[in-house]
Amino acid sequence: MEILPGVHSLPVATGAFMGTFSPNVYLVVGEKAALIDAGYGHEDDVCSRLSSIRELVGGKSRRIPTPVGTESGLACIVITHGHVDHISGAGKIAAATGAAIMVHRLDAAAASRALGADAIGEVLEDGQEIALGGASLRIIHTPGHSPGEICVYLKEKRVLFTGDHILGIGTTVVMPPQGDMAQYIDSLRKLLAFDIDLICPGHGPVVRQARRKIEELIEHRLEREQQILGSLARGRRRVEDLVAELYPELDSRLRAAATGQTISHLRKLVREEKVASRDIGGNEQYALR
Ligand SMILES: [Zn+2]
Repeated sequence: MEILPGVHSLPVATGAFMGTFSPNVYLVVGEKAALIDAGYGHEDDVCSRLSSIRELVGGKSRRIPTPVGTESGLACIVITHGHVDHISGAGKIAAATGAAIMVHRLDAAAASRALGADAIGEVLEDGQEIALGGASLRIIHTPGHSPGEICVYLKEKRVLFTGDHILGIGTTVVMPPQGDMAQYIDSLRKLLAFDIDLICPGHGPVVRQARRKIEELIEHRLEREQQILGSLARGRRRVEDLVAELYPELDSRLRAAATGQTISHLRKLVREEKVASRDIGGNEQYALR
């Protein structure tokens, strides 16, 4: 599906994904092309993605079949973060096209574990630009969901690819040990400095009112934080009690995620010295300072 001229969303099978939406894979085509995330690595799924890439990247010379991975083909696979649903297909796509796999330094170890030690072609840093010719991708380090999560800004089209930092629907999981709520909120604030018309998330549909979406996400987390401070003020001490109060109708399948997010908020508040934590008989308990 063409989202904008030169920006495509490639079909990805939903099969193995446990959540509501399969991971999104995007293709940005300039003089050279870049894949943003790679989806799962199942053979059929990767084959269909490779044929989409061939069709779109070879599009300028459709009558002459252009092998991808040549000068006019796929130059790189930019991975937003090292989670399996975004990265698993990268090895096979890189092998078939010669494209370099790129991932932020802080998720490189996770990526190497998933794809093999020699798989990573380039380690990315905040502020780096990838020139495709007629299109350039700026790397914005946005830790929070994972330490090395990046958003990728296509300046010419004012499009932001957000991986799991911003989703098309639902709430990003920010839970320890990988997740960090203070970083997550700071990373959202960092994005407000960019002129963004369209968000292409790692899951779910594109988001058109980018600035409003980012502001809503910040507000939502700060509201949750206020609720936690309120519960603590009413004398709730244990994480289980806070979760029960914050999520009164929680589906048991979401309990682990809700608990993780709550702990993530509490760690932020402890670091900011608004909340104190004490280990009581092997159980962490929290109170306002
Ligand atoms: Zn993820």
